[in-house]
Amino acid sequence: MRIKVLGCSGGVGPDLRTTSLLVNDELLIDAGTGVGDLSLAQMSAITDVLLTHSHLDHICGLAFLADNLFGLIDRPLRVHATAETIKALRDHLFNWVIWPDFSELPDVEHPLIVFHELKPGSPIEVCGLQASAFKVLHTVPAVGYAIDSGNGVFAFSGDTYASDRLWSALNALPRLDQLMIDVAFPNEEAELGKLARHFTPTLLGEELSKLRHRPKLLLTHHKPGVELAIGQECAVALAGWDYRHLQRGDIIAS
Ligand SMILES: [Zn+2]
Ligand SMILES: [Zn+2]
Repeated sequence: MRIKVLGCSGGVGPDLRTTSLLVNDELLIDAGTGVGDLSLAQMSAITDVLLTHSHLDHICGLAFLADNLFGLIDRPLRVHATAETIKALRDHLFNWVIWPDFSELPDVEHPLIVFHELKPGSPIEVCGLQASAFKVLHTVPAVGYAIDSGNGVFAFSGDTYASDRLWSALNALPRLDQLMIDVAFPNEEAELGKLARHFTPTLLGEELSKLRHRPKLLLTHHKPGVELAIGQECAVALAGWDYRHLQRGDIIAS
C-alpha cells in the first residue's frame, strides 16, 4: 500500500494543504484542499473516497473533484461515510445552494456521486483493502480508519481529542504498524484544543500510554504558524516514540 500525503495541515498557506491522502492512486481518504493539486487524469483514477467527518477542511476538495469529473468518468464515484456525515454533506454542501447535488447529476439513474453509508465496527472491502471505521471524539460525529493492506495496518485518527473509545478501537486491532494522529495545537492552547476537540503534544503523550501497540507515529493537522512550537513540545512529550511530522508530498508505505 502506497499512501501519498496530498495535504496534512490544519489550514492553508504556501505549501500547506488540508487533509487528504491518496492510497494506491485510486482511494482518497478525506478530500481537503490537497485534492486540488491532482491532475485531471489522477482525479479520474479515483474510484472511492472515505471521509472521516463533515468539516470543511476534510471535504471541500470533494466538491471540486465532483465538478471536474463531471462528464469525464462513466461510473460513479463512491463516497463512503457515516450516516451523520452523509446527511451533513447533503444538507449543507450538495444542496443546490452551496453546490449542485452531484448525487442526482447528470441524472438520478446515473449519478456522479453515490453515497455508501458505513458503520463503525463493520469493515468494508475497498480498492482491494480492508477498511474499518472507528468512532473518535470531535465536535461533530467523526471516525478514524484502520486500513489493512495484508502486509500491515495503517490507522488514521482523523480529527480527534482524547477518548477511551479511540484507544480501545486501536487496541482491538490485531496489529498496528503506523498511526497517523492529530496534533493541532501547542500546549499553551490546550483549552482551545479541548473546545475544538484536537490533541496537544502533552495530552497525546499522556494518552498514548493507553495504547498497547507501538506503531510509528505520523503527526498531522498542525495549525499554520505553530508547527515549530508543536515540534519542540513533541520532542519532549513523545520521547521514546518513533515519530515524524508529516509533510505534504510524503509517501507512507504500508
Ligand atoms: Zn474537524
Ligand atoms: Zn480538520
